Amino acid sequence: MNPEARHAVCPGSFDPVTHGHLDIISRTSQLYDEVWVAVFHNASKNAVFSVEERVELLRETTQDMPNVKIASFRGLVVDFCKEHGVGVIVRGVRAISDFDYELQMAQMNYGLAGIETVMMPTNPLYSFLSSSMVKDAAKWGGDISPHVPEVVQRRLVERMRQD
Ligand code: ADP
Repeated sequence: MNPEARHAVCPGSFDPVTHGHLDIISRTSQLYDEVWVAVFHNASKNAVFSVEERVELLRETTQDMPNVKIASFRGLVVDFCKEHGVGVIVRGVRAISDFDYELQMAQMNYGLAGIETVMMPTNPLYSFLSSSMVKDAAKWGGDISPHVPEVVQRRLVERMRQD
């Protein structure tokens, strides 16, 4: 077997990391020898946390997963894969509405570099959960404690107070 097939990446924005993300990362870490969580440098104006802050929050919340490493990246996820000897991209799929986009991206990434994508069905507990919904709820004082780790909740509430 291709040794790169034992190494996976979970790419995304993670602004900020939620229990939905952590569920996918942790399940991926049970399947592969080494798992990279790669945080996109995106130019989105709606970002609440800087890439460095998102990486830091991911480091803190994945401490109990010894084969998980966190990095940020610019450009194509397939280039990140080539650089780090990764053969598989793992993406969480919450609903059929996610699938259309994920399928296109998977086909593009396979075409670009022969990198496989595994789509992992979300734990139904988190199928409605997204970073943007958590940010919206926090902005208006909603209780986000069921959806994110405590450290994320604290930082998000602090950040929303500053804005
Ligand atoms: P992107 O902007 O690339 O979708 P996200 O940070 O939103 O980045 O998501 C990163 C990865 O986590 C993606 O594979 C996404 O499908 C998955 N994901 C996001 N939210 C959830 C959730 N609630 N449950 C499971 N997977 C999720």
